[in-house]
Amino acid sequence: MNVTLWGTRGSLATPGAETARYGGNTSCVGVIGRGGTVLVLDAGTGIRGLGRTIDASVRRVDILLTHLHMDHIQGLGFFAPLYRPDMDVHIWGPVSSHISLRERLMRYLSPPLFPVSLRELPSAITLHEVPCGEVDIGEFRVSSALVCHPGPTVGYRIADAHGRVLTYLPDHEPALGSMAFPSLPLAWTSGGALAANADLLIHDSQYSAAEYPNYIGWGHSSFKDALAFAALSDVKHLVPFHHDPGHTDIDIDRLMTEAMAEARPCFRVTTALEGATFQI
Ligand SMILES: [Zn+2]
Ligand SMILES: [Zn+2]
Repeated sequence: MNVTLWGTRGSLATPGAETARYGGNTSCVGVIGRGGTVLVLDAGTGIRGLGRTIDASVRRVDILLTHLHMDHIQGLGFFAPLYRPDMDVHIWGPVSSHISLRERLMRYLSPPLFPVSLRELPSAITLHEVPCGEVDIGEFRVSSALVCHPGPTVGYRIADAHGRVLTYLPDHEPALGSMAFPSLPLAWTSGGALAANADLLIHDSQYSAAEYPNYIGWGHSSFKDALAFAALSDVKHLVPFHHDPGHTDIDIDRLMTEAMAEARPCFRVTTALEGATFQI
């Protein structure tokens, strides 16, 4: 599968000269299978650019939302395929105990926050509340599970027919789930079953180790904890993701260098950079 990062920033879009290299668009990752299946992971502001690259011959796109915080849905109304009458768009998102996925999305995709209502869009839109289990989407088997982050939030494990695995945990604080993190068995750690032995893990790394104690419970990880979670999960390649809006490119370089020097990981690490592509 081909994986492209269209938005790597967390919390708030952060354009500008100081963030131009790692990128200012919020969470969005495009996945294209060898058989042509198109998955979109989250609908942050990065989805606008992704939408412009989808070929006219593509008739179905599946958008997998991890949760409905604004940085993960803000680009949805600017996704060009939603305006194509010949397009089937399936939107998957976590279950809430009291409000449907449609009602939650409509809170944003309706006036006065957005000029067009979800039901007025020309494409055929189907909403799915993700089962915490497995579902087949095109050529992919997609597993989801609730993970440690405020509000209903899932992570995704996407496997192709050849057994290659991408795990996507953009907003995740496994250290909050256990005082003993990362010393507990993987099976007892938030997100563990999704990340185990993944070929590519895209994981929250919003804070420095020094910043993290000020934000415990906000649902995000430090670079240090992202590296520890990846080691515990025995992944082949980690992509630290969901950069803090307050971090410049130079800050991210420094945080990464410091965390790598301390952790000395035995797997590949590539800090998420807008536009980067990975072949799994
Ligand atoms: Zn986020
Ligand atoms: Zn969030």
